[in-house]
Amino acid sequence: MSAGTSNVWHPNTQMSEWDAFDSISRGDGVWLTDSKGFRMIDGVASMWCNVWGHSNREMVRAIVRQAEKLQHSPLFNLTHEPAEKLARGLVGMSPGMHRVLYSENGSSAVETAVKVAFQYWTNEGDAGRTAIASLERGYHGDTLGAMSAGHVPEFFDRYRQHMFDAIELPVPVQGGVGGGRNGAAATAPAPDALQRCIEGISDTLSARRGEVAAVIMESGAQMAGGARIFEPSFQEEVGGICRENDILLIVDEVATGFGRLGPMCVYSAERSKPDIAVYGKMLTGGYLPLAATLATGRVYESFLGAYDEQRHLFHGHTFAGNPIAAAAANKNLSMYEKYDMASHVSKASKVLADRIAEHLSDMEAVGEIRCRGLLAGIELAAGRGATAAADTAPPATSINRIIYEAGRRNGVYLRTLGNVVMLVPPLAITASEIGTLVERTAKTIRDAAPSLLPRT
Ligand SMILES: *Cc1c(COP(=O)(O)O)cnc(C)c1O
Repeated sequence: MSAGTSNVWHPNTQMSEWDAFDSISRGDGVWLTDSKGFRMIDGVASMWCNVWGHSNREMVRAIVRQAEKLQHSPLFNLTHEPAEKLARGLVGMSPGMHRVLYSENGSSAVETAVKVAFQYWTNEGDAGRTAIASLERGYHGDTLGAMSAGHVPEFFDRYRQHMFDAIELPVPVQGGVGGGRNGAAATAPAPDALQRCIEGISDTLSARRGEVAAVIMESGAQMAGGARIFEPSFQEEVGGICRENDILLIVDEVATGFGRLGPMCVYSAERSKPDIAVYGKMLTGGYLPLAATLATGRVYESFLGAYDEQRHLFHGHTFAGNPIAAAAANKNLSMYEKYDMASHVSKASKVLADRIAEHLSDMEAVGEIRCRGLLAGIELAAGRGATAAADTAPPATSINRIIYEAGRRNGVYLRTLGNVVMLVPPLAITASEIGTLVERTAKTIRDAAPSLLPRT
């Protein structure tokens, strides 16, 4: 379809760069088929959300069964079993959590978390807690409140004057597993970098404890910030600092929870004890939009009181907890157990790391590579630093578009973040499909490399 006859405005896209978009008409396992019958392997789990592959029969049947019974009923004055069951499931897998608020996307779920944190303090009679603190290069979504909580300047600077200011905290990230010949060897941060970072966070938060309502951080790794994986123990230490200073901790597991990095619940694996947790992308296996904000009993109870005290949460979405989406999430959760997804991911992530080492780590065009679970961030040597430096001039053509088109020719669907090629496949991907994905990605980078050279 030519862009001239389309009325769709695509997300985060310079529309003038694209004459047309490939139209996907079928999904089947890890494969996407376009309207011309051309097949691509889904290298980004259709925006990091697909778990079981496309058109999984068990998932589809659960959705159809629920649609035939009750397609929508709100949670205003009412409840329904799919939402109840899912809340039990989510609380069950999330240590410390007690209640679940539903929304339809990660950004809304983050905004819900931020509103809960702000109001928690006014409910507690502390009017001074008006600030959010968050990590450098953290990403929490694209709505105004979620953008405000994030720090990815190249995404948010356009809107800065309309956002609230969040206190920025430093972040230590792990170096890569392999470096390109061309530079950036596997760079473990200096041994004391973690310690200095923790001290910086501790100093800032203790100096400003009276104003900070909550710290928000992605759990395990920063995804949109460029697949930046946290140092072990970092998350636990941040949690400790929050507790020492009586500041709420919000963990954003929208991209990393549900097995992307291995564990279902990353904060628990990282021994962190948040007050609020947010799930999104993989919650319904990538089948329907749904997100969840979980709160501990301590947070929840601060909202209880006589009606005229007006302590309740003034927040709610029309489709919050939609029964079909909740039924999809319930089926998804039960399938993690039924098919022992934890051990699959643990094996598959080794295969991914091995195939990457085999096909990508010696490539001229590749800089640092960062892997954890079924996430790999492959930094291209060209444009290195583009994601790190806010003041770098953007390239004339987006690296994303060059990589997408080369990927398409090689039968792999990719979307980059700045100069980082993200491999984020559906979790159920098999070992041989991982091989195909990595080989096609390597070929794509090789083909695209000449177009990615810096302009002189
Ligand atoms: C994608 C993402 C969000 C926003 O979710 P949407 O469903 O796109 O609104 C929030 N936080 C993180 C960590 C994400 O990766």
